[in-house]
Order: sequence, then structure tokens, then C-alpha cells
Amino acid sequence: MPLTLINHGIYSDLALPDGHRYPINKYQLLYQHIVQNVESNLYQIVKPEALTITQLTQVHQSQYIEQLCSGQLPAAKMRRIGFPWSEALIKRTLASAGGTVTTALKAMETGMAIHLSGGYHHAHYDFGSGFCLVNDLVLAANEALKHSDINKVLIIDSDVHHGDGTAALCAQREDIITLSFHCDKNFPSRKPQSDYDVGFAKGCGDEEFLQSFKGSCQLAIDFHQPDIIIYDAGVDIHIDDELGFMNITTEAIYQRDLWLLGYAKQRHIPIGCVVGGGYRTNESDLIPIHMQLIQAGLKVKAQQ
Ligand SMILES: [Zn+2]
Repeated sequence: MPLTLINHGIYSDLALPDGHRYPINKYQLLYQHIVQNVESNLYQIVKPEALTITQLTQVHQSQYIEQLCSGQLPAAKMRRIGFPWSEALIKRTLASAGGTVTTALKAMETGMAIHLSGGYHHAHYDFGSGFCLVNDLVLAANEALKHSDINKVLIIDSDVHHGDGTAALCAQREDIITLSFHCDKNFPSRKPQSDYDVGFAKGCGDEEFLQSFKGSCQLAIDFHQPDIIIYDAGVDIHIDDELGFMNITTEAIYQRDLWLLGYAKQRHIPIGCVVGGGYRTNESDLIPIHMQLIQAGLKVKAQQ
């Protein structure tokens, strides 16, 4: 069976001011790279539907969603998100959140699915922050839990930044377990407790990271026995990342992804992945690193 990849053509459709930090073109570059370099029989692309207001307000405050979608959000709240408001911003955001929901649902059908976007873990109940408007990870967990055979979701967040929005949104939920790996001295300064938080010092290297990642994932998976894993495979832990501060090599990021996808398969737990963060002035530098998640997925799929 081919690997399921979720993509929507509008993920990079957003004009940003010159010098803006957000690598909006990386989604399109990643998709193009796959089409040009991966044998077409090895994967299938699924195009998601945008999320509805009803779906969004099951996780977020209605007033926040209404103001956000209509362009009425107070200027201070918009500044905290870090993007100028536009119709295009809302359109791509709702499509991308829909993409992570579709990724979870496809993972339930096929064992594994990868979203070529997603990982908006700084979005809270009634505000967005750090380039995140709505929390696709929690929205996907929430939709997955509507299925009768899904009673527990584990969100594993390996973006270099703490999953503060995810932690806060899931603090009172016993059906969503949160595990965040992150650099301690990095955004956001306030880090509400996840179920499990693994903070690394600045400059943390491959060996310490991989050992801790594998050990903590294994503990959480074995203890909670989730019915599905949602995995944020952020690559801003990379040594050359401009917002990272950790010293993880390209090879160790591949080892991280390969190990987790393999472990989920071994335990027969569906896993839905998102590409997560990654920040470079030259956006094309991110593509080989994000590509490793797809390569790991293809490799694990091919293993019997
Ligand atoms: Zn990040």
C-alpha cells in the first residue's frame, strides 16, 4: 500500500511582508520535491477539506474563532500571532488544520499518514501565538476521538519549541496525553505543563537527545497504550536552525523519525505525522530535512 501524504495546494498561498521570519514557501517546495523525486507508485496524495467553525469551536472559544475568521481580532492579539490578517491567512490556516485532521483519520485507516504542513502547537483556547492560529494537533485528536475505537490519543511534540497551546488545551482532558520535547531556554517563556515535558539545555547534542526521545516515547506509549499517536516532527531542533538553539544533526533527525514510526508500527498503533517547525532564511535548506520524515515513512511502510 502506498504511503498516504496529505497536501493542499494553498498552504504556501500567503503574501508576507519582506523579511518575515515564517518560511511560508516550504510547503510548496516540499510537495514539489516529493513529486519530482519520489516514485509515484510509492505514495498517494490526499487533499483535505477545510475545518468548519463548528469543528473549531469544539476546541477553541467561539468568540475567538468568530473574531479571527472575520478579521475583527484586536490588534494586540493579531500581533501575538505574528501574521498580518488576510482572507488568505484564514483560508490556508483552516485548510491546514483540516489537513492534520485528515492525517489522523487516514492514519486510522492505513496505519500511517504524513501531513505536508501542520504543527500549530502555540494556539491556545482563546488566543493564537507564535505563527499559530488554531491548534491542529488538538483539533485532530478531538476528531479522532469521535470514532468508537479511539479512546486515547497521544500527542508527541518534537518541535524545538514547547507545545504550550497543546498542553493548556489538554490539561483537563484524560483522553489526550501530551508529551513535549523542547529546548528549555526558548519560546515560549511560559510553559504550561504537558503530561510529560522533556526540556533540553541549549546546545544539546544527538546522543542525549535520541536517548531521551526514545526512552520517553517508549514509556508514554507503553504506559498509556494510545489508540493513535499524533506526531509533530519539527526540524527546528536542527543545529543550523535559526530559531532553534539545539545541536541536532540531519542524521539524528532521521533516526528520530525512523525509530518512532517503526516503534508505532511494531506496536500496531496508527501514527499521523505533521512536518512542524523549521526556520531558515533560505527555505530550500529545510526541504532535505523535512524530506527525511517522508523517507522514514516510506522505509517503515516497506518493512514487513
Ligand atoms: Zn518550533
